[in-house]
Amino acid sequence: MQYYIPEWDDLVSSKYDYWNDVELPNSKKVYAHEIYPKPNYDGILVSRMKIEESKSKIEKIKKVGVHKFFRFEGPIFGDCGAWGYINEKNPPFETKDMLSYYETLGFNIGVSIDHLCIPQVKSEWYYRQELTLKNAEQFFNLYENGNYSFKAVGAAQGWDLESYRYAVQELLDIGYDFIALGGLARAQTSVIIKILKNIQDLIEGKKIKIHLFGAARLDGLRAFNNLGVTSFDSASPLRNAWLGSKKNYRGLDWKGYTAIRLPFLSRTKKYQQLVEKGLFSIKELEEFEKSIYALLRRYEIEKTRSPEEIIEAFEMLNQTFTLRDDLKEDYKETLSERPWEKCPCPVCKEAGMDVIIFRGNNRNRRRGFHNTFVFYQLMQKILKDTNFEGTPYLKLVHEKDFSIPIQRQTKKIKSKINKQTKIENFFEQIDEE
Ligand SMILES: [Zn+2]
Repeated sequence: MQYYIPEWDDLVSSKYDYWNDVELPNSKKVYAHEIYPKPNYDGILVSRMKIEESKSKIEKIKKVGVHKFFRFEGPIFGDCGAWGYINEKNPPFETKDMLSYYETLGFNIGVSIDHLCIPQVKSEWYYRQELTLKNAEQFFNLYENGNYSFKAVGAAQGWDLESYRYAVQELLDIGYDFIALGGLARAQTSVIIKILKNIQDLIEGKKIKIHLFGAARLDGLRAFNNLGVTSFDSASPLRNAWLGSKKNYRGLDWKGYTAIRLPFLSRTKKYQQLVEKGLFSIKELEEFEKSIYALLRRYEIEKTRSPEEIIEAFEMLNQTFTLRDDLKEDYKETLSERPWEKCPCPVCKEAGMDVIIFRGNNRNRRRGFHNTFVFYQLMQKILKDTNFEGTPYLKLVHEKDFSIPIQRQTKKIKSKINKQTKIENFFEQIDEE
């Protein structure tokens, strides 16, 4: 089982002065895999939509290839980035061009062009699934007749058990031995398990590889593994560090701790307006921030201090600047349990308490790197130690707990016929328009 991290320009300064909030001399921008002695993921997932957002970035990648650009030797998985064109009628890429994109940029794995069948586009489900399958067929045929060094993957999109089964069956018929299931990023772990159980008879004994897009779950990991999943990706452990409303830092047992929010008041537009109105000077804002930051750092070093002092300071800060003020209990937990002291990872060792302070990219992304470290450690434990049944904060979900009451063979044929009829009707409707 391999874990891929989606690439999203997740870089920090290699040398950072937390007191003055500036990069130190000789600092450079580094990825998580350049901070840890071993990467906390097996590979990187790179979406074309994402890297083409920046013209200079894509130009540079074209020159040096993906491995050199991301300074990563492990496998790099390429996809289109279907969330980026979710509202478009059709994906903005052509299959032939996609094949040469994967090849010339040096990807190890490349997936066919897909279109998501999520609830927001219900009226287009059949059209999108058929489009995804047609693209997959064309992709496979061109791939087979060409001379490509990357591994071709067929994309399966669906919206329920039967539609995913239909997509997988079609891809196997085309000839794929590597299939990626998309559209599951927001699905419950139990739903993903049911979808996987529902395709077991199709893949059993066939050495088929299965990737789950956007659905790396620790609770379902063992079940996924038992049901033939060979890889998955997700950025949520990373991005929850700053996008999550709570539980931004994961303890080694996966317990979620809320990071302590100390924004850059002096660098925020809203507060600069207060400066313009003459209520504060920039210097006063900076000093105010620094005094609270100093309080936090003193708390870190002088281990006998009580969290109350910090909580009071934050109450004053939050009320003065109308910031979020509902996290007192969470802060108390974070402060009194000091989880950053228990983590052996290089980020926590270097940043100390700063890893748990919600303030700017260098702290927030580092916290994300730490979360990815914990995720990856737990992932190895779940896979290797079959007696490990999780922790109070991480309950494993088992495939045996879900039964699927369907008769596979008859359903399979029925579903195929039904869906093809519906798709034909759908195309007819479009033609009439
Ligand atoms: Zn850590």
